[in-house]
Amino acid sequence: MIDYLQKYLEAPTIDPDHLRKARLLNILAVGLAIITSLAMILVGFMIFFKVSGWENLIAILWSGFAFLFGIWVILALNRKGEVFLASAIFLLVITFALTFSNVKAVGAGATQFYFVIPILIASVIVTPAASFVVAAINSTIFIIAALAMNLEPNFYIGIFGMFAIAVVSWISAQVLENALKDLREINIDLDRRVETRTQELAEANERLKGLDELKSRFVSDVSHELRTPISNLSIYLEMLEEGDARNTARYLAVLREETSRLKKLVADVLDLSRMETGTVAPQFEWRCINDIAEKVFIANQLRADVKGLQMEFIPADDLPKINMDGDQLIQALNNLVGNSVNYTDSGHVIIRTSHRAESGQIVVEISDTGMGIADEDIDHIFDRFYRGKRAGQSSIPGTGLGLAITKEIIERHGGEIQAQSVVGQGTTFSIYLPVQLSETG
Ligand code: ADP
Repeated sequence: MIDYLQKYLEAPTIDPDHLRKARLLNILAVGLAIITSLAMILVGFMIFFKVSGWENLIAILWSGFAFLFGIWVILALNRKGEVFLASAIFLLVITFALTFSNVKAVGAGATQFYFVIPILIASVIVTPAASFVVAAINSTIFIIAALAMNLEPNFYIGIFGMFAIAVVSWISAQVLENALKDLREINIDLDRRVETRTQELAEANERLKGLDELKSRFVSDVSHELRTPISNLSIYLEMLEEGDARNTARYLAVLREETSRLKKLVADVLDLSRMETGTVAPQFEWRCINDIAEKVFIANQLRADVKGLQMEFIPADDLPKINMDGDQLIQALNNLVGNSVNYTDSGHVIIRTSHRAESGQIVVEISDTGMGIADEDIDHIFDRFYRGKRAGQSSIPGTGLGLAITKEIIERHGGEIQAQSVVGQGTTFSIYLPVQLSETG
């Protein structure tokens, strides 16, 4: 029942001011309709039982029906969204009822107090200033009614009084509207804040989920990568124990190879995890990249010589020093130069440094004339455990972690790394490191 009534009192608008006025009008109209209906039932009984003076009551019954019809029209208009029109008709109906229920009393100024009601209602359901319009209409009615009865209109109560009420009503309605407006603004602000916080929390949650997924994938990748060397170790150990003694040297060589693969894998995994958890704080100092590149060049020269590769280091003069963790950058460059030596069978490996003053960057390029990287691999080579197709098929050992570690180190220095490659011709890795403002030389 209450649900039904509430639904009936709703109005088809989303403008909060409109909605409030429409609801209020609905409540007033329905309230009046209920009171009128009850009164009409009473009058109906009195007429039915012919209570003395019942003849006079018939006119009241008819005007009751007319009033109910008026209310029905108002409610219908209001439900269609015509709040202003419905409110105007409602006020007219009330004023009409007040006037014609006893015109003589109106002319004599006896019922003027009741005319305050439409003034108050107008300021709330139409607009605060509407109280003045209704006050003007009321005053006109008083004057006409008084003149029609040859009486002197009561200007004090009839006109001044009505306008005084209109002013009070206007001010109160204005204050109410302003308070409601403030409240609405506070509400909107609160809604906005709640929405932003909810979004932030959802994003944080997504990030955590992403990290969790990354961690799980990392653990499963590591376990997977560990399985091959470990099972190879156990197979060859068994063969060593039970197999032909003539093959011992070959088995031992495989065991050594698998052990060093395992060692490298564990070292790489530890490096990555240390960097991620920040267990080892980076040791920043001002150094020239040429010192680092030279160290890496010397460390790889012997291996390059053994493979018959020509290795060259071309340093730029007068490079500004940069704030770096030297050990980490040595590791990064070592991974790149080591790869170049690994994946190149003939030709050369060149390490070159340069300074791009216009973009404030130091560039280190490592280029080789090796097997190159296929197009379908190039977007993935910095992913953890990713080994290119050709690298995977070759006998060249690797963990697929070197470039992931290198990229992490370069990004920690605010730089970036790019790879360019042509299959069968060679590869160039370029590192771009930003030159910080202080300490040059
Ligand atoms: P890996 O241990 O396999 O060398 P990396 O992360 O260092 O792992 O490299 C990922 C993949 O990138 C390699 O498996 C290889 O396919 C490719 N790659 C990296 N450097 C070179 C290079 N200089 N020449 C050709 N391929 C390379």
